Amino acid sequence: MRSRPGGRAVSIPYVPWEPVDPLGVPRAAYVHVPFCVHRCGYCDFTVVAGRDDLISAYLDALACELSRLESPQPVETLFLGGGTPTHLPERSLERLLELVREWFPLSSGGEFSVEANPVGLSPAKLGLLADAGVNRVSLGVQSFDTQSLATLERDHSPELARQTVEAVRDRFPECSVDLIFGVPGQSLVTWQTTLETAIALGPTHLSAYGLTFEKGTAFWGRRLKGTLASIPDELERSQYELAMELLSACGFGQYELSNYARAGHESRHNATYWANGPYFAAGPGAARYVKGTRETNHRSTTTWIKSTLAGRTALSSQEKLSLEDRARETLMLGLRRTAGVFFEAFQKQTGFALEEIAKPLLARDWLRDCLAIDEERIALTREGRCVADSVVAALWE
Ligand code: SF4
Repeated sequence: MRSRPGGRAVSIPYVPWEPVDPLGVPRAAYVHVPFCVHRCGYCDFTVVAGRDDLISAYLDALACELSRLESPQPVETLFLGGGTPTHLPERSLERLLELVREWFPLSSGGEFSVEANPVGLSPAKLGLLADAGVNRVSLGVQSFDTQSLATLERDHSPELARQTVEAVRDRFPECSVDLIFGVPGQSLVTWQTTLETAIALGPTHLSAYGLTFEKGTAFWGRRLKGTLASIPDELERSQYELAMELLSACGFGQYELSNYARAGHESRHNATYWANGPYFAAGPGAARYVKGTRETNHRSTTTWIKSTLAGRTALSSQEKLSLEDRARETLMLGLRRTAGVFFEAFQKQTGFALEEIAKPLLARDWLRDCLAIDEERIALTREGRCVADSVVAALWE
């Protein structure tokens, strides 16, 4: 293959990239369930901990917000995220599942994912999920190391995590395990043991995220005070490289910066986000992308409940992107996929030439080693994946 100027010609996995219509009717839906037993110190999600008294009002408000769709919206992927959806007591979980199935009927062969945590995921709740057609459970394990779990303020033991992965794996066709590296005190060896333990349990999918210190979290405050320190950048990079090497050697293809799957078990729901396709969303803090407009619901669960039940919209932001910004976003999101962004599909989807939108990247010498370019597409190299945030930031400079 000939190389285009500005990057390296590097062999990268070929995965077809179909253009999507951002203005078309969404075929994906996300519902946010904000309840958790407690708030982990690093958590920046829309969460309420110790407020189970709000569950009933939350479900009423969700019914109200969904009824604004006016008619049921058939989807191909449905994702219940949180928070911890499976924290809901059985009766409430049943009502939640009924509501989302009523308003977002899943097409035959569709993907229905639910996020869950090991604590409280009883056989009865797993049965409710399976009966409702859930076929993919994404488990927040984060680590199989006692010390890392304590640092992350997780409320489960490595043993409970192991048992839960086995229970989910045996009951659902798709079992995904979330892990975190870059944890203060976590060595390369501890991280390797966590990865090996996860692989040995036989999930179909693994996500490995680097720990971030988000403003407003307890971890952010502790780092400012000096009571919690980030691990050195070089160690965190080695941990990421180890995940890429080990997982691919064990048959988990890396198809996105943080996501790895056995062939054919990639997350279909998240693929809509990375393709910059449209999706519905409901619940506090949930973000939707419908008819070219991005909207985000209020992050406060109580504000979202009150406004929604009072018949008002509960939006905290609404933005209609220019065509060029939409194209830039499509490139930014597309580069997260290891397959990269295809010239032809990009032009069809956005109306812009990929070379034009990617100019700020192609013009920078320091990005040469970060981009793999051939006649068909632009992708991040392995080096580019390690510094993906800086690469993407250059698009907006
Ligand atoms: S369990 Fe997950 S969503 Fe809940 S507080 Fe912890 S990190 Fe946040």
